[in-house]
Amino acid sequence: MAADGDITTHIRTCPLCEAMCGLEIHVDTQQQVTLIRPDREDVWSKGFICPKGTTLGHLHHDPDRIREPMVRDGETWREVSWEAAFRRCDELIHGVLERHGKSAMTCYIGNPTIHNLSLSRYVGLFVGLSGLPMLYSAGTVDQWPKNVSCMLMYGGMWRIPAPDIQRTHYWLIMGGNPQASQGSLLAVPDALGEIAKIRERGGKTVVIDPRRTGTADKADEWIPIVPGTDALFLLAVLNVLFADGLATLGELSDFVIGIDDVRALAAQFSPESVADTCSIPAETIRRIAHEIAAAPSASIYGRIGLCNQEFGTLASWLIDVLAIVTGNFDRPGGLMFGRSIAWSVSDIADPQWADGVSFGRWKSRVRGTPEVLGQVPISCLAEEILTPNTSPITPALTCEPGASSQLRSVVTIAGNPVISSPEAAAMDRAFADLDCMISVDNYLNETTRHAHVILPGLSQLEVGHYDDLIHSWAVRTHGNYSPPVFDVPAERPREWQILTVLGALHAGMHYDDIDIAMFDDGFFDAMCTAQGVDGAFVRSHYTEGGTERMLDLQIRTGPFGDRYGANPDGLTLRSFRDAPHGIDIGPMEPRARQIVTTPSGKIELAPPYITADVERLKARVDRPVDDLLLVSRRHVRSNNSWMHNVRVLMKGKDRCTLLINPSDADRCGVVHGAVARVTSEAGEVEVPVEVSDEMMQGVVSLPHGWGHDKVGTRLSVAREHAGVNNNLLAPGTLIDVISNNAIVNGIPVAVVPA
Ligand code: SF4
Repeated sequence: MAADGDITTHIRTCPLCEAMCGLEIHVDTQQQVTLIRPDREDVWSKGFICPKGTTLGHLHHDPDRIREPMVRDGETWREVSWEAAFRRCDELIHGVLERHGKSAMTCYIGNPTIHNLSLSRYVGLFVGLSGLPMLYSAGTVDQWPKNVSCMLMYGGMWRIPAPDIQRTHYWLIMGGNPQASQGSLLAVPDALGEIAKIRERGGKTVVIDPRRTGTADKADEWIPIVPGTDALFLLAVLNVLFADGLATLGELSDFVIGIDDVRALAAQFSPESVADTCSIPAETIRRIAHEIAAAPSASIYGRIGLCNQEFGTLASWLIDVLAIVTGNFDRPGGLMFGRSIAWSVSDIADPQWADGVSFGRWKSRVRGTPEVLGQVPISCLAEEILTPNTSPITPALTCEPGASSQLRSVVTIAGNPVISSPEAAAMDRAFADLDCMISVDNYLNETTRHAHVILPGLSQLEVGHYDDLIHSWAVRTHGNYSPPVFDVPAERPREWQILTVLGALHAGMHYDDIDIAMFDDGFFDAMCTAQGVDGAFVRSHYTEGGTERMLDLQIRTGPFGDRYGANPDGLTLRSFRDAPHGIDIGPMEPRARQIVTTPSGKIELAPPYITADVERLKARVDRPVDDLLLVSRRHVRSNNSWMHNVRVLMKGKDRCTLLINPSDADRCGVVHGAVARVTSEAGEVEVPVEVSDEMMQGVVSLPHGWGHDKVGTRLSVAREHAGVNNNLLAPGTLIDVISNNAIVNGIPVAVVPA
């Protein structure tokens, strides 16, 4: 922090996405943010920023942001004290516990949780303390296929290798659009800027996507592909590599098992056999295979378009397989594992898999969907609320997963599933039906308007920040701590305290009996034990608990930490406080041999759980062609559903449009600027048409995160630009069956003039 006249300058990391950009925030004497610009001295981002990063002040000052707890009486909201809010939560939670038992209660964890210092560190305490038998999250509409494939290949669901694009010579991008979203499951500043640097190194970037995205415009080549056929394409590339003698495990030849199984599978998918289905010529598939093999290094990257599709796990798995069998794994320029300075709570071994990984240990009550990595699809949530029990349930304080009764209580944490999840209409009806809904959220949005109580967190500028799990897939080992820009009274509950109270209430305690500090100490001690240090000894170093204590522990017991004096030159949180522009250790280094924890102790290239799904994929080849398939898209000025209330980001032309290829527009009889009706098995929407050759023929696109026309929200700017919710068209029954991930890319639709 530095003062210059009336302006104080704060150095901070943007918490909005995985690019982790360094910001310079100017605040005047009236406590108004007057300017946000890039921090050119930031050791990581070096001056890169996107339009969203400049709007943290708008979010902080947004009059619609909730600052005090709110309780709903019928249709009326009133602000209440924190004590009154927690007492109302006590009443609601205990009401459901007594009438229906724990099996009627769950929670939903939204994506922003991972970008929040408090929520990311303490959501585990809430889950453990609450004893909720099942939880739902944005994970099953985002990256669950990648979690499944990494769990089976490497032994950890968050051991996700990142493409080392800062050193690669060939970047293959499938189903990702860094121009809009930067990296995702890839932490790198200015991902798009790396394309020019790869070209300067004599390399090449290829984008494979149904849409010529902003990233494709910058790349060297765009190859359109039919949605949902990426796994076929990747198997055909592998087919060529094996057939032409180009496959190599390089230095990992003694550390990978299963390559013969992969070879045998790939042999069934010649380029000619999949070319029509993928709409990619066989000679192009052969050429791409040879280009990857010939490149000095290659980074293979698949993201959300590969996860949110019919064969999400196969496609996500094959991305890594392709890197491994071309010798582009665990070496510079290929796929590599990041290394965090501060370990993440998510890195700690989950006791539910102490006896090894197995799926389908229990099933959802209504649909009978087997769990995968402890979760069933988010699309099950609405039916679990709306479908009555067929037999009486005896209320109980604890229960087994899968023994759930009709859900009567949901806690939502930083999420808006009414907008962001399939079965959006059913989700909207379901939340309205609950006996108890409590939302930890800063906005009265399409989801939280159904809550009985809203417990607001602080603004991003009122809390400390240090990214958590994201560093696991960062292209460099680095860290940056941001202290709060604005002070908040000490008695104002922080998110971690809110989560602790909610967890204890679910555990059967009453508000008056909850000792937050005691639970915090217990949680802290458990984390100390997991790191092999004594909790009582470590706690003696601190005068207060909470997030910064936890972060200090994460740093000090991490790979570069001081281990509380055992390594005097090691890092502490103080080191980061003294280095406002961050600390950079260096680029990723080979470390697969240190972190793979599969039963075999090696990389398991062909997990039977995944390879068995190839039979389902084979049937895709002969399936009749759908007339039109819907895919989603993102925009650099949006962040899922929640930044549409920032007026400066909403300037310009309407972004919520149906993108359609000119020939499809002719065929459907729709014209640019007119309104089309888009219909799927799940529902219909009416939306302005944008005719563009950026869409391949046979594929249309709607953006993700819109539909702000609901009555009862407090999103004044977003309501002026409501748009339509693409998830109204996503049937909840469409899932990648081996991961439980939703299919929102590749939905059959019909388009007609409205
Ligand atoms: S790319 Fe934009 S949203 Fe993401 S961290 Fe940087 S400034 Fe923030």
